[in-house]
Amino acid sequence: MLFHGLHKLTWFPLMSGLLVLGLPAFAAAETTTSENDKTPETMVAALAEDENVEDVERSEPRADANSDAQPEPQPKTTAAQATPTKPASKVAPNIDLKEVAPAPEPTTPAQAPVTETAAQEDSEVRPGEETVTAAPVSTEPQPAKSFTLLDSEVLPGTSTRLAWSPGIQIAGLSQPTPVLVVNGAKAGPTLCLTGAIHGDELNGIEIIRRTMYDLDPEKLSGRVVGIPIVNLPGFQQGSRYLPDRRDLNRHFPGSPDGSLADRIAHSLFENIIRRCNMLVDIHTGSLKRTNLPQLRADMNNADVATFTQGFDRMAVVHSSGSPGMLRSAAVAAGITTVTMEAGESHRIQEHQIEAGVNSLTSLMERQGMISRMFVWGDPEPVYYDSDWIRAQHGGILFSEVELGARVSEGEILGYVADPITNAQFPIRSSSNGRIIGMAVDQVVMAGFAAYHIGTEAEVPGE
Ligand SMILES: [Zn+2]
Repeated sequence: MLFHGLHKLTWFPLMSGLLVLGLPAFAAAETTTSENDKTPETMVAALAEDENVEDVERSEPRADANSDAQPEPQPKTTAAQATPTKPASKVAPNIDLKEVAPAPEPTTPAQAPVTETAAQEDSEVRPGEETVTAAPVSTEPQPAKSFTLLDSEVLPGTSTRLAWSPGIQIAGLSQPTPVLVVNGAKAGPTLCLTGAIHGDELNGIEIIRRTMYDLDPEKLSGRVVGIPIVNLPGFQQGSRYLPDRRDLNRHFPGSPDGSLADRIAHSLFENIIRRCNMLVDIHTGSLKRTNLPQLRADMNNADVATFTQGFDRMAVVHSSGSPGMLRSAAVAAGITTVTMEAGESHRIQEHQIEAGVNSLTSLMERQGMISRMFVWGDPEPVYYDSDWIRAQHGGILFSEVELGARVSEGEILGYVADPITNAQFPIRSSSNGRIIGMAVDQVVMAGFAAYHIGTEAEVPGE
């Protein structure tokens, strides 16, 4: 143990030195080539933090929950105003998603992006109409129509596995990414689920798999489209980033002639995301941080706020979102979107996966897409205002509290121990609340966001 500790001591400052010194050099070298959209500072910032911390700290404030004022409805510029879909060139095979599948064939990416949304195809789900995000559809269900995606026609009452390829050669390889589609026998909204935009975030992959494989197309109203692994190269390398070291979730809605990340983002957004009425983008904590299952949602957007009410037992944290995030870009395109955060990166965590699947099932029921066998209570999301507490000293973080613990203001949450001087620095809670996210025990630098404290907020609309 002693040896191990000493070994870690000599190793870490060296590595952190490399990390700190190496990155600006990398970024500076990069700017001399073709990219000047990222300064060295933003490169380092992107690696030091992610949306997990940033989107909470830099969020626009939530509209006062105690006032009677409802959130202002946001003006919608929906994709449904765009041109119609061209007809599909083939009918997708109806397959049982539970069966083992052969490796996917690449689907030729459409030259002209498909820009019609699903909203256009269903007369009862017009953009801007309340029923998209509101209570279950109470009218007699209408038979569904075919759904055209990625040049394939998915017939009503069938499920299939398509393949999306951004059409970009990455190190000589362009591997298609599976896209699962369940087109219900009855009409309804289109719910999309995206996972592993950060390639090392694994819980979402399994949440999507389980959610979709349990759907019976004969009993579904509407459609569910799932892309379990958006960042396939990152997934294969166990990396959060794309092969060009960019964070894909900073490049939406993308552009067809920008950086690699811009192009991949553009292809995904135009070919798939614009076809959705609702989107849940599933992430985990990053950099050895873990989260209670929670949503990040712009509670100032009335549609998004209503949408969150369908998720059972989720902590809901307001965040207006940062530019370039899939969530922000999709909301701007008129698609009701939240981010789901479940657990930590690099791990498969059964209880987090179960919570995610249950919550999505609750959402689909609330949206009138499925009905469960027996009666469940109303979904019970819990709304939080939140703050990150940062370590003020570098050293080794030892937590005294566990994820989900209720804490009071001034309570010691953990210590940072300086292994060189033996100094111990307590980290205290800034408020009464609950630990909704935290760093696992690890070596930290001063300024590392260590504890995410949530204080319960008013439930919107009540
Ligand atoms: Zn992520």
